[in-house]
Amino acid sequence: KTITAEDIKKSVKDNDVRFLRLAFTDINGTSKAVEVPTSQLDKVLTNDIRFDGSSIDGFVRLEESDMVLYPDFSTWAVLPWGDEKGGKIGRLVCSVHKTNGEPFEGDPRNNLKRVLKEMNEMGFTDFDIGFEAEFHLFKLGEDGNWTTEVPDHASYFDMTSDDEGARCRRDIVETLESIGFEVEAAHHEVGDGQQEIDFRFDDALTTADRVQTFKMVVREVARKHGLYATFMAKPVEGQAGNGMHTNMSLFKDGKNVFYDKDGEFHLSDTALYFLNGILEHARAITAVGNPTVNSYKRLIPGFEAPVYISWASKNRSPLVRIPDAEEINTRLEMRSADPTANPYLLLAACLSAGLNGIKEAKKPMAPITSNVFEMSEEERAERGIKPLPSTLHNAVKAFKADPLIQAALGEHLTQSFIDSKNLEWSKYNQSVSDWERDRYMGY
Ligand code: GLU
Ligand code: MG
Ligand code: MG
Repeated sequence: KTITAEDIKKSVKDNDVRFLRLAFTDINGTSKAVEVPTSQLDKVLTNDIRFDGSSIDGFVRLEESDMVLYPDFSTWAVLPWGDEKGGKIGRLVCSVHKTNGEPFEGDPRNNLKRVLKEMNEMGFTDFDIGFEAEFHLFKLGEDGNWTTEVPDHASYFDMTSDDEGARCRRDIVETLESIGFEVEAAHHEVGDGQQEIDFRFDDALTTADRVQTFKMVVREVARKHGLYATFMAKPVEGQAGNGMHTNMSLFKDGKNVFYDKDGEFHLSDTALYFLNGILEHARAITAVGNPTVNSYKRLIPGFEAPVYISWASKNRSPLVRIPDAEEINTRLEMRSADPTANPYLLLAACLSAGLNGIKEAKKPMAPITSNVFEMSEEERAERGIKPLPSTLHNAVKAFKADPLIQAALGEHLTQSFIDSKNLEWSKYNQSVSDWERDRYMGY
């Protein structure tokens, strides 16, 4: 059902909504919001809320810093927590426009819409995405800041129910359900304090919007439980990191075009071409899907995270896995991305790579049937299995060498992304860590 301005006005009244949170996302994937009192509702609903874009990372351009927020009515949600006096907060996801009304090309959400339109022009109706965003819960310290102490020592699918981690996870699930999420799975993950909550797949734009809301809910509910939620890729050395597996499928008029009942693993040729596009551009996609220095500390052997560019049906070691599934659920699961990725940029990059694969109509390398980590260097070379980039620096280099993935982000976002990552890498290079002192102090 479509949500109209009238529906939102009614909901504001019925729910005693006192504030409106207008959300959008910066280049780093961080949710930003302009919050206004409901006295401004009419302005909100007629695209008349302005803000200064020059203070937002990746927006820059001082000379044209005034930006306008265009709310997407379909994203309307009444957040289950409110102001001090009990009034609620309503939330709308917005696209950022310029004062002349044109969509701002530095807005990652607008950019994803642009790439989705290219998909429509090729005759496909939907790019469906299911994200599996993992995260860690740590105890909050006396000072209200994070610690590295975990609320439990459970492990994968453990049935412990009396610890704060499990109580918090249930509270998150209920909160998500109360704002319209269909939560399909929630469980403890392998690492100490590590959790996973999965919500149902939907079209790319909806899912990207939702994962931003998801992170906000996880963080806020965690605080209520005296916990701190982090989506950083590898919070603890020697333990499992946080992935954001990206399940992708392409639809034409309600039909999943990745499915072919006679194909190997039930995959159609279209799916194989799309897959080949992903594999061919995997190194540049990694920059977008794994955009922090820390992301690369997750992409190492031994923790169910991928290191090599390959694919398989059952095995969890390669970059892309084909989960066993029926028709509508036939999909490619890309296992590299982590939840620090900007979901809009990530999906634009993956879709562009996949669509290009369909245009080129080339079949991918043979699927692997054994653990890619157990193969010898020679065996991997023989099969043409290359590694993912090993550092942010190498990933950004791959990104700079890949015109297709740059085009997927568009000029403005490509430049902001490169600038932002260069700065991050140079800061990291200048930092001196405990590891270095431990290792070199005796020299
Ligand atoms: N935590 C693993 C990762 O870093 C994934 C575990 C799983 O298969 O769900 O990607
Ligand atoms: Mg998992
Ligand atoms: Mg998975």
